[in-house]
Amino acid sequence: MGKFQALIGIASLSPYPTLERRRAIDSTDKSGCAAGLSRYITQMQFRPLFLALGAVLAVTATAQARTLIHAGTLIDGVRAESQKNVTIVVDGERVVEVVSGFQAAGAGDTLIDLKTSTVMPGLMDMHTHLSSEFSPQSYSERFYVNTPEATLRAAMFAKKTLMAGFTTVRDLGDSGGITVGLREAIKKGWVQGPRIYTAGKSIATTGGHADPTNGLVPKYQGDPGPSEGVVNGPDEARKAVRQRYKDGSDLIKITATGGVLSLASSAENPQFTDAELKAIVETARDYGFRVAAHAHGAEGMKRAIRAGVNSIEHGTFMDDEAMDLMIKNGTWYVPTIIAGKWVTEKAKIDGFFPTIVRPKAAAVGPKIQATFAKAYKAGVKVAFGTDTGVSAHGDNAKEFAYMVEAGMPPMAAIQSATISAATLLGVEKDFGSVEKGKFADLVAVDGDPLKDITLLQKIAFVMKGGAVQK
Ligand SMILES: [Zn+2]
Repeated sequence: MGKFQALIGIASLSPYPTLERRRAIDSTDKSGCAAGLSRYITQMQFRPLFLALGAVLAVTATAQARTLIHAGTLIDGVRAESQKNVTIVVDGERVVEVVSGFQAAGAGDTLIDLKTSTVMPGLMDMHTHLSSEFSPQSYSERFYVNTPEATLRAAMFAKKTLMAGFTTVRDLGDSGGITVGLREAIKKGWVQGPRIYTAGKSIATTGGHADPTNGLVPKYQGDPGPSEGVVNGPDEARKAVRQRYKDGSDLIKITATGGVLSLASSAENPQFTDAELKAIVETARDYGFRVAAHAHGAEGMKRAIRAGVNSIEHGTFMDDEAMDLMIKNGTWYVPTIIAGKWVTEKAKIDGFFPTIVRPKAAAVGPKIQATFAKAYKAGVKVAFGTDTGVSAHGDNAKEFAYMVEAGMPPMAAIQSATISAATLLGVEKDFGSVEKGKFADLVAVDGDPLKDITLLQKIAFVMKGGAVQK
């Protein structure tokens, strides 16, 4: 949305921004997603403008029509209570006003009627992998799915993510720069998807969880280095962070311990020395990067927390000492319960996982939800994340139900995916709540998600930067 040319005196003002929105709505209608949402939206009539004879002027006007959203219920992302009967006024990409009552639309305004819905900030998933989706073929795909093909597939996953109500994601590990390119394509409007903050290639040590040649026969292993995200020693660690800067990453992801799906025997062992972790975190700070640390085992987790990482991902075998350290250091916990549930289910199927992976999946998967319950109760800060790309893209919101099942109140679960997630990313001034001055990233569901959290799996309306997406 933005400026548009108005040739005063010759034609009525162009309703271009609204037509563009309507087109986006019509196209999602065909996929069965939007459930006839255009019924909500009314274009107010433009009044004809007349000028004195001869005074025809071509001007560039910033006459952005406002969009008024009548929200029956608003969960704004920060308040403890929801609000009833609110008008959200959007001008361009941002919210300019949130007022109580249903304000009448003026000439040229677009009115979106969500009086029977609950409106919330756009949801934010702090752990996705848009470049892939796990299947038993995932291990061999690297030999026959090339990067352009995987990038186009990632665009499809990005659209599914956005249609599920996630207007922002933090992508924690790709290959071939896929999510960096995807981020730019979405920014430019070439494809539909969430705002992406990506780590690019994860950083591991030799044989570590994100070593891309794990499990290959020696002939194909080579000796990957910092460019490929494999480091040994502080100098290589620093080089890998600098390489991510050159690649165009937004943050750093490290695999502080073993992991479930990699072709290696341990999901728990610590995989970096203190000196390597220190080098990564210090260099990351120099470049304005935050650091996310995948960790299942307690020892590797504690080393990462002490080194100053910003978040612990999964956190499966988090002990009391690790929780205390996280509270003391202000480290965020991104639980990814759905990934645990998913690998637990798949571990029951003969042949789904390679033999080296199956016991890890069976041991790690069932523990995450209980760890989350304990950590939340202890007061560890939680930001919403799913590890989607393990489970299917578009299923992200199932995580809310698992969080609530484990004892988190629905409002806290929603805030973990709004203002808390924005704070973890460091973008809380622009995103994470429905407040004056913030980007108009909004979603809506029919009904009350505070009463039934699974409603978040049925997002009916999505707006990103003031433009209706669904
Ligand atoms: Zn992950």
